[in-house]
Amino acid sequence: MNRFIPLLVLCNFFVSSCQQESTLDNRVVSKVESIQLDQKYPTNVTRLLKGYPDIVVDYVDNYIIFWDSTIFLYNDSMIKNESELLSNPDIEDMFHYQYTLNKDHDSLPPSSDPGRIRNNEFFNKVYGASKKEVEDNLTEVIWCPTLVNKLIRVNTKNGAAEAFVKVSNELDQHPEFANYVSSIGGTFNYRNIKGTNRLSMHSYGVTIDINVSKSNYWQWDSRSTDEKMVGKYKNSIPLELVHIFEKHGFIWGGAWRHYDTMHFEYRPELITNIK
Ligand SMILES: [Zn+2]
Repeated sequence: MNRFIPLLVLCNFFVSSCQQESTLDNRVVSKVESIQLDQKYPTNVTRLLKGYPDIVVDYVDNYIIFWDSTIFLYNDSMIKNESELLSNPDIEDMFHYQYTLNKDHDSLPPSSDPGRIRNNEFFNKVYGASKKEVEDNLTEVIWCPTLVNKLIRVNTKNGAAEAFVKVSNELDQHPEFANYVSSIGGTFNYRNIKGTNRLSMHSYGVTIDINVSKSNYWQWDSRSTDEKMVGKYKNSIPLELVHIFEKHGFIWGGAWRHYDTMHFEYRPELITNIK
């Protein structure tokens, strides 16, 4: 592979120049630095490697490499409009809008949809490529044992179930949130997003809708599934509750211009803290 060539050059360099060792230090250092630069991943690839540590194992020549040696194209280099980003994203497009942590969305309503761009082939690979495959990967977790005490089904892959347990246990310490985290709207449900032919993230068991009666959804407010019909941002979910989810790897649908404030989705690649 190409990336091994500089290393080979460096070995030859050492063999041929061992007599002049003391005068060649600087050249050796610059060679080593160039190898490290060659091997450095794009920032968003590093986010994938950190967010899916046992699943995405490497990146070579614009291809993501999975644990089983399957490879997926990372960046198709196509320029896409808002609708094409939703309907035909590559893996790189999932990072098109940056998700910002601990943001005060009530004071500054979102102007984009960070995390709403999803490459379903990627999530099929991670969590299961059919209803049956996903179901085989599910486990049961008790949601907020003290405040709610309800069994939910979540995915065991990539630490998702563990993340649900952590969020649940932390929320359980906040009785002031009981009305928000009870009467939950849904977790695992293999289905398309309403008004589209795109698979919902609820299909993978990595998503929870909290109390619907405390939530706002752009499609209900605008009485339309037309993306262009989105109206003024609305939210009544406390941001402190949102920040607990974010701390454990979940993004929030209230961070989207096309808001869905009941919706929390396990997306560790978008929460990973890399500058
Ligand atoms: Zn949802």
